[in-house]
Amino acid sequence: MELKDYPPPERWDDWLELDPKSWPRKVQRRYTLVPTICFNCEAACGLLAYVDKETMQIQKFEGNPIHPGSRGKNCAKGPATINQIKDPERILYPLKRAGKRGEGKWTRVDWHEVLEDIGSRIARAIREGRQNEIMYHVGRPGHERYMDRVLKAWGIDGHNSHTNICSSGARLGYQLWLGSDRPSPDYANARFILLLSAHLESGHYFNPHAQRIIEGKMAGAKLAVIDPRLSNTASMADYWLPSFPGTESALLLAMANVILQENLYNANFVRDWVNWEEYLRAEHPAIECSYENFIIEIKKIYSEYTPEFAENESGISAATITKIAREIGKAGSAFAAHIWRSTASGNLGGWNVARCLEFLHVLTGSVGTRGGVLPNTWTKYNPTFWLEPPGQKFWNQLLFPDEYPLSHYEMSYLLPHFLKEGRGPLDVYFTRVYNPVWTNPDGFTWMEVLKDESKVGLHVALTPTWSETALFADYILPMGHGGERHDLQSQETHAGRWVSFRQPVLRVAQERMGNKVNFTYEANPGKVWEEDEFWIELSWHIDPTGNLGIRKYFESPYEAGRKLRVDEYYQWIFENAVPGLPEKAATEGLKPLEYMRKYGAFEIQENVYQQHLTDVNPEGCEIDSISGVAKKGKAAVGIQIGEKIYRGFPTPSRKLEFYSPTMKIWNWPEYSIPTHIRSHIPVEDLDPSKNEFFLIPTFRLPTMIHTRSGNAKWLNEISHRNPVWMHTSDADHIEVEDGDLIKVHTEIGYFVNRVWSTEGIRPGVLACSHHMGRWRLEAEQGSRWSSALVKIEDAGSGCYRIRQLQGIVPFQSEDPDSSRIWWSDGGVHQNLTFPVHPDPISGMHCWHQKVRIEKASPEDRYGDIFVDTQKSFAIYKEWLEKTRPAPGPNNLRRPLWLTRPVRPADEMFYLK
Ligand code: SF4
Repeated sequence: MELKDYPPPERWDDWLELDPKSWPRKVQRRYTLVPTICFNCEAACGLLAYVDKETMQIQKFEGNPIHPGSRGKNCAKGPATINQIKDPERILYPLKRAGKRGEGKWTRVDWHEVLEDIGSRIARAIREGRQNEIMYHVGRPGHERYMDRVLKAWGIDGHNSHTNICSSGARLGYQLWLGSDRPSPDYANARFILLLSAHLESGHYFNPHAQRIIEGKMAGAKLAVIDPRLSNTASMADYWLPSFPGTESALLLAMANVILQENLYNANFVRDWVNWEEYLRAEHPAIECSYENFIIEIKKIYSEYTPEFAENESGISAATITKIAREIGKAGSAFAAHIWRSTASGNLGGWNVARCLEFLHVLTGSVGTRGGVLPNTWTKYNPTFWLEPPGQKFWNQLLFPDEYPLSHYEMSYLLPHFLKEGRGPLDVYFTRVYNPVWTNPDGFTWMEVLKDESKVGLHVALTPTWSETALFADYILPMGHGGERHDLQSQETHAGRWVSFRQPVLRVAQERMGNKVNFTYEANPGKVWEEDEFWIELSWHIDPTGNLGIRKYFESPYEAGRKLRVDEYYQWIFENAVPGLPEKAATEGLKPLEYMRKYGAFEIQENVYQQHLTDVNPEGCEIDSISGVAKKGKAAVGIQIGEKIYRGFPTPSRKLEFYSPTMKIWNWPEYSIPTHIRSHIPVEDLDPSKNEFFLIPTFRLPTMIHTRSGNAKWLNEISHRNPVWMHTSDADHIEVEDGDLIKVHTEIGYFVNRVWSTEGIRPGVLACSHHMGRWRLEAEQGSRWSSALVKIEDAGSGCYRIRQLQGIVPFQSEDPDSSRIWWSDGGVHQNLTFPVHPDPISGMHCWHQKVRIEKASPEDRYGDIFVDTQKSFAIYKEWLEKTRPAPGPNNLRRPLWLTRPVRPADEMFYLK
């Protein structure tokens, strides 16, 4: 046998390998290799499942070399999919609550009973006009538009997501400039890369991005990293800028100032593509509306952001700021940068950091260029369907309340607070791969509400694993991992557009062998199902006769009136809605579905640069004489520049909005242009004599998912602690040593953790990874690889304590590795001790905390937690006061041009 980097696709049907466990004997094993997609973060990297043809079991997962995003490479979490599938602790059958909610008593039920019960309950709510009492709350989506279609077909406004604890901040910053809420950096071709994150090791699309950052570096690009923590990424950088958290916008605006004053900006790009005329007309009507005057004006405005001012705010030297600004100016259109979470999700006004970062792209003309940053709307593929349900005729105030007209998106983590103050009950609440009790701030408020049947009538947890939230469900429905389900996924990983196909690999392998499989749960372990088929079946149970108008969306596009099969859903999309796929498949004599089943991915377009310059056919266009915006009917389709009409950007002006009329009209005139917004924890608010610190609780470990790594044994063996990073000088000051226990006091309680004394963090700042501290209430129920057994004590008046009864210990199971567990520490759950901090504009939870540290007393134990939910509710109210509620102009709840998931009919945007 010869050595290969990847099995060639022509041999995927019958691949021969030596069995490593039989070494030194040479035992051959035959595999059929089935492509699928990793489900362990949002990057959607390709995987190849090795299914043993003799046992028809999955042996391992490796990378799919055909996949355009990941190109055969994966992080540790990709191959660990095999752990999740073979985990002896996983939930294999549908479970129904047998005792009180949260009591841990379950009985096994079959899928038919589940569908009957939930379907009839939803049907009743719809018939009674209680559509807003049905909600689907997703943690990890991993599909493109599937659920949007389902929920619209049901006619409900019930889509909730995790976005506001994750990326709302960065998204809004990008959206205001571009009309697209995600960046797609072309790192491989960049000359200068600036990261406000630990992007080589974790973060959004980090594996596809990391490989391209390294390619860029190998081709000579310089890398700068802004992060108070010396992450693995910062350690690889040419410049590490450990700025004080929350001061990044000052730093970035000082760079913008240097670029402006030293004339390093791209004058042609700024002249053509910035809405400067709109700005001058609105804000400086007394001066002549000329580009030259605009430049004079912005040079004046940003001159106050001197490098010295930024040094004073951020702690980064003026000389370093100036040097990096010049490097960015020199890189010009080949400047690539990225922010997703980090400071944008940590601080009040975090959204504005993304806006200030994008300002540097606009000034350098690195928007949409080779080596620059592309808007995600160019690089992401979204499917269309044979039958599109119309926008729903409901607006759910539990998702988009009037207080947050610009939120990006649903105010998801405030759901229990809204329910607690009587904004409405939920009748049927689905959590799907979502664990808010553990992941969100203020988890005890979540527990209080989930236990209360008057607030949540039926809680259905769709999950591949046990979770702290599933403990408070009425049904736990086991759904598949990455290799156990169908999905389409496309992500903006680079300057290309692609689509990939997640497949239930055992089902596909069975079908390759000629065996018929009706439902995916027949091929998966136990009765583990997939959502695609579940929603089709549930929709038929809600509307068996078609009278509610729902059933028709779940009928075959190929045979009227017959129930839709999952392969037909994808068949139709691949045949009709993926440009170039049918032609490509035909070159191999395959049908489009066969092609995707074989390869698992398809590149729709390479090098998707400068789409804003696409010509628009002027026929039928009406051009606004002042703005130059071209409209066909009501829809803006382009912008006239000179003699031509270009597609431009999907903003109201079709240009890059330096000036945001949206911010002005919606009551935030002080933020109508990029500016510096101070964090909710300014440095002068911290009193070192009281041991007060700034805590960063958000950083990710490269080996961890949120909840689902709990049942991946390899990942837990690598990472199982989350000590508090503290600078050595701070540790000396409070007289603690590495490994000592400290009590970290937040606004609503405390947690007890160990110190990691290190020089890899800025003095005055602490950091603790949010990935750890999983817990369970029953000795043998939960993921024992990762969770401590705990006891919750109700201390009265809304106060609760948690104490760990036992750390991680070996246990007996069918996997012999479970008796070899050598680690005992599972970390500490810090998120429980954080109140909600909703940014009044983006709605992002501002994760960063002001904390007070003291040495633990003899009574304190590792992992102890105390929380006062009355205090947390008062803090929720306090932050609510910061908002400037709808209505906006014309009685609007929200600007019509801002994106909104599962968008309702336009008429619903108006307050009655
Ligand atoms: S980056 Fe890692 S976890 Fe994320 S999809 Fe790729 S392989 Fe999976």
